[in-house]
Amino acid sequence: MSFRTEYMQDLMSRVEKNHPAQPEFHQAVKEVLLCMEPVAEKNPQYVQAGIFERIVEPERAIVFRVSWVDDNGNVQVNRGFRIQFNSAIGPYKGGLRFHPSVNLGVIKFLGFEQIFKNSLTGLPMGGGKGGSDFDPKGKSDGEVMRFCQSFMTELAKHIGPNTDVPAGDIGVGAREIGYMYGQYKRLQNEFTGVLTGKGLNYGGSLVRTQATGYGCCYFTQEMLATRGDSFKDKEVVISGSGNVAIYAAEKSYELGAKVVAMSDSNGYIYDPNGIDLDAVKQLKEVERKRIKEYLTDHPQATYEEGCHNIWNVKCQIALPCATQNELNKEAAETLVKNGVIAVAEGANMPSTPEAVDIFLENKVLFGPGKAANAGGVATSGLEMSQNSLRYSWSFEEVDEKLKLIMKNIHSSAREAATTYGDADNYVLGANIAGFLKVADAMYMQGIAY
Ligand code: NDP
Repeated sequence: MSFRTEYMQDLMSRVEKNHPAQPEFHQAVKEVLLCMEPVAEKNPQYVQAGIFERIVEPERAIVFRVSWVDDNGNVQVNRGFRIQFNSAIGPYKGGLRFHPSVNLGVIKFLGFEQIFKNSLTGLPMGGGKGGSDFDPKGKSDGEVMRFCQSFMTELAKHIGPNTDVPAGDIGVGAREIGYMYGQYKRLQNEFTGVLTGKGLNYGGSLVRTQATGYGCCYFTQEMLATRGDSFKDKEVVISGSGNVAIYAAEKSYELGAKVVAMSDSNGYIYDPNGIDLDAVKQLKEVERKRIKEYLTDHPQATYEEGCHNIWNVKCQIALPCATQNELNKEAAETLVKNGVIAVAEGANMPSTPEAVDIFLENKVLFGPGKAANAGGVATSGLEMSQNSLRYSWSFEEVDEKLKLIMKNIHSSAREAATTYGDADNYVLGANIAGFLKVADAMYMQGIAY
């Protein structure tokens, strides 16, 4: 897709020039600006106030050294990042990713998406994201702890419960959040809700672990309902086998579907009987092993090396829950040929722009990550509320709130898409609905930042 207006084309060129060699950031910005052309036409006040120019520029970008000592006594040096992208509607909020592929551009793309996602939840949260090129895979608990402590020693200077509240993402789960929270508390001498995704015994919220995966299924359920359909008796393919993938699989089963394939970064498993989710949880959450080990106790299953071929498995519902750009044009064409009805992004930007076009052209129900995976940050928002109240809600209470939030995100995205002339286009709807609230807040707050 290309721009219709010179104004947006010029802005896009400026972003590419000002943030060179950051393809993921350019991709995320382009997707949003393409949806903004009709918004700019309808709302000249946003153009006049430079809202579009301002929203693509982070309020603050923090890059820092993280040095630590490994188990052999060697000094290791990693890079740390925190992008505080937009605080118009609340404190910066967004996860931390620890993965060797992390760089400034990846964190900027994630922080940018987070602005619109957080706005869509209806909760008062601005957009931010952070992380490091540190790889927790293969490291001892002691090494992970020393890294997390060093990382937080610098990050603590920039965050706070009313300023910036990080959470988990790829490579950052309960263990890493625990080590970072311990270090923050030591440094600041205060027990506050500065991180979300905390353990249940020190301020965490029930359902946070399940929230992104469950929320992705609740969103898919809403999309299916617009065509009188549901998860019942559908075959589901889910990429990844991390936090989001596992709980998307759990909810798919609860809603009456069968999950036939899952993956990790090395390859994918296919089980015609339906993936045994307890076995996957044991392998990935407890033993931290590779997914191919699933075959040891499940001889009827097959394993194929290379994670991208998972999209060749026939299914009616596809939930990409691993990482960005993991589903390309060819994969989208194969899914369509095999009769896919709905695709919802548990991961952030897992579908390439060409793949999204294929889904939209073929009238596949397509839930973009900003909307479909917003359940995680929404429940983080609920964790913040509980921390402020010094109170805990029950599993059922939080799950009900999560369901309602996902339903509202679906209806506001659909409503915005309808207003702008393309009811089934959730990409357009999510971007516009997310943008309007932030844009109005920026407009009302003046031009000082
Ligand atoms: P986890 O680290 O728990 O799991 C990530 C999964 O994706 C693993 O199975 C991993 O395989 C696989 N993976 C990671 N990198 C790659 C890669 N480059 N190529 C192929 N597979 C890869 O992360 P989460 O489940 O938390 O996050 C998954 C996605 O969901 C990310 O895009 C994240 O931004 C997004 N997300 C997460 C939220 C949350 O609440 N956790 C909220 C909203 C979005 P391996 O084990 O081999 O590395």
